Amino acid sequence: MTDPTLDPALRSWVESANGHPDFPIQNLPLGVFSPPGGAPRAGVAIGEMVLDLAAAGLALPAPLNAFLAEGAAARRALRARVSALLAHGATPHPEWLHAQREVTLHLPAQIGDYTDFYAGIHHAVAAGKLFRPDNPLLPNYKHLPVGYHGRASSIVPSGAPVRRPNGQRAGAEGPSFGPAQRLDYELELGVFIGPGNALGEPIPIASAAAHIAGFCLLNDWSARDIQAWEYQPLGPFLGKSFATTISPWIVTPEALAPFRIPQAPRPEGDPRPLPYLWDEADQAAGALALELEVWLLTPGMRAAGLAPHRVAASDARHLYFTPAQMVAHHTSNGCNLRPGDLLGTGTISGPERAAYGSLLESTAGGREPLRLPGGETRAFLEDGDEVVLTARARREGFVPIGFGPCAGVVLPAA
Ligand code: CA
Repeated sequence: MTDPTLDPALRSWVESANGHPDFPIQNLPLGVFSPPGGAPRAGVAIGEMVLDLAAAGLALPAPLNAFLAEGAAARRALRARVSALLAHGATPHPEWLHAQREVTLHLPAQIGDYTDFYAGIHHAVAAGKLFRPDNPLLPNYKHLPVGYHGRASSIVPSGAPVRRPNGQRAGAEGPSFGPAQRLDYELELGVFIGPGNALGEPIPIASAAAHIAGFCLLNDWSARDIQAWEYQPLGPFLGKSFATTISPWIVTPEALAPFRIPQAPRPEGDPRPLPYLWDEADQAAGALALELEVWLLTPGMRAAGLAPHRVAASDARHLYFTPAQMVAHHTSNGCNLRPGDLLGTGTISGPERAAYGSLLESTAGGREPLRLPGGETRAFLEDGDEVVLTARARREGFVPIGFGPCAGVVLPAA
């Protein structure tokens, strides 16, 4: 690893960055923020602060789409400049900084299209078993990254409240319309697209990673009762499209380089992907080691002064397809991906219940509610509940980095 911006000895004159669990100087994620009374602008998270890139003479467009379009060389050049400006030993410029707690964080890019995959195989098996106990995975599952086209307009940044949807639910007396009773979260990674491709020109798997601008956390809020009634035969619609929350910082491939791992070997008997999805370099280093957690805080816990409770601990290594395979598959028919488009990986569950990334799985479809500190239980989310996703990358010899929270509170239905 020869990138000097990843040197574990590197420290910043921004004191809160040194030892910060998410945003040490080795991370430098990109986002868009407004200072109090100011217009949206591009920034970099550093410790508890945000660096205003324009103030530092490094203005980027906000939203960041045009910069994401430039690809890895532009990102690396900016990263080197920002790292040098913020490093211990450089002239401190506190006037370039704003406290994160005082700014408004926006979506980092204007998201034109959003596609959600289903590449967490443990989720696919656990969720599939609830509907098809003997045949949880459909025959296509191991051959291609299954996905559906989601709704970009309802993607919101961390901290935005999420209103419980109304919708049509099945019932013994026929369907009824009302507030979803089985509201759930899904623990996912988001993948921002960089340069992208022209219509009709697929991105080969070998160059797919070059089209990934970075990663965020993604909560694919899901109304299971609406979903279960509507999804056949064309897939999710109103059970998903009411809201998707993402963490507002784009964590770049450069920052995540130390935490790349080989794609887990497929179990004996699983098919090898077709050649357009197979690349040796992608198999060798295209997966990510990222600890992922889900935290729940209910109004009752908040009133009792209790801390958020961890309801799941998983890892991005459980994905059955790599992000590059998702890009290659998505464009294999000629479909164009554009700068700032967002992919969701699908719910990333591990093999055991403690690693299940949705309540659908961890409560066995609501039949075995979670027990929370203070004595409450939850089969599905109730009004006032706050769900927070977190991610942390660690590896011996490197400074750990995180993503910042991906949080949302459930509001009562309209
Ligand atoms: Ca999903």
